Amino acid sequence: MKTLKLLLTLIIIAFVTVTGCKEDSRIAPDTSPLRSQPSARQSARLSPELKAKLDKMRAALPADFQKRLEQQVSKLSKHQPPYRKRTPGTLNTAESVSCDFNPPINQWLDSELANWTEEVWLHANWNVLYWLPLWSAGFSTNSENEYFGRHGEYTQLITKTSKDLKRFWGIESDQIEVVGAHGSVLRDREALINMYMTVLQFDEATAGSTADYILALLTAYPQFRNGDHPFLTFFTMSFGGTPSRTVIGDGVLEGFAAIGYGDVAPQVLLAHEFGHQIQIQSGQYEGNGPEFVRMQELMASAYAAYYLSHARGAAMQWKRVQQFLQIFYNIGDCYPDYYQHRGTPTQQMAAAEWAYNLANDAQKQGHILTAQEFATLFEAQLPLILQQ
Ligand SMILES: [Zn+2]
Repeated sequence: MKTLKLLLTLIIIAFVTVTGCKEDSRIAPDTSPLRSQPSARQSARLSPELKAKLDKMRAALPADFQKRLEQQVSKLSKHQPPYRKRTPGTLNTAESVSCDFNPPINQWLDSELANWTEEVWLHANWNVLYWLPLWSAGFSTNSENEYFGRHGEYTQLITKTSKDLKRFWGIESDQIEVVGAHGSVLRDREALINMYMTVLQFDEATAGSTADYILALLTAYPQFRNGDHPFLTFFTMSFGGTPSRTVIGDGVLEGFAAIGYGDVAPQVLLAHEFGHQIQIQSGQYEGNGPEFVRMQELMASAYAAYYLSHARGAAMQWKRVQQFLQIFYNIGDCYPDYYQHRGTPTQQMAAAEWAYNLANDAQKQGHILTAQEFATLFEAQLPLILQQ
């Protein structure tokens, strides 16, 4: 499918464990040290009958099922693997970077995942359950009747912020769609079939049997909360194409609300993603390599901060935004290769502070820089930001 040829794949949120995105084992079952000793309840196994049924359903899937999944994950992971394996060995290489290894949002998500046994992880990984809502929202649904948050609790705020961002930056934005990713797609047979046919090019019969297998997994493992577990939608992401889409997962909104940032997280997440959309629409996305990608990420954070603090933008209290950014920039595991991608938390904050000052110090607050003017100023500032 054409839209899968991504002009941009950028993910804000990168979290714990799961696929262990090594080049050759993106979907391989993981044995992360995160998993503690399962409790007695967690250790409860499926009945032999149910296990046999699931095994049979899985065996009936196409021979290249895993390969197709891997291909899609690989495409989406090209720029930034969203799910990383957290190991002490990796963390030890984080040298001089100042980093909070366990920010509140990680702690919250870890607690939500506490009852996921090896068996549950195995099924989640085999089927990349945490990618399916993203694929569905990004590529296989229309954008009518969009809602945000599991119960639509963020629909008004995100819709309003989305319109406001388009007005503020004044770029060609009719083709930019902001869509919600929902775990409910995992219990929706028709939506799953549509996703497997659209994204993985399965024929209808195969898509049907695969969807039935996913539905059976949800029934067998209550840990998935019938698709509503926040980990399954813990992402935001922007894609180029026609239309261009920014996807906001319910899980990430739920997580930041749970730790007390429901008032600011949706706007910041969306403003950062809109920064990527500006890059896509204005051709600032032609480039490659870790330095280029890092520049893109820092620039998106700067775009966001400029909008969020500008009197004619969101006009948010900068102190409150800063509090959120302190957490936001430390998530995703403190990996050097992750920094390579996004810049260190200090660099990220420096980019945001620079943009805040730009908005704040403007002689005439009524003036809004164009996206191109802003990009030019940012590029001039980048060497200083990288020295942080
Ligand atoms: Zn980004």
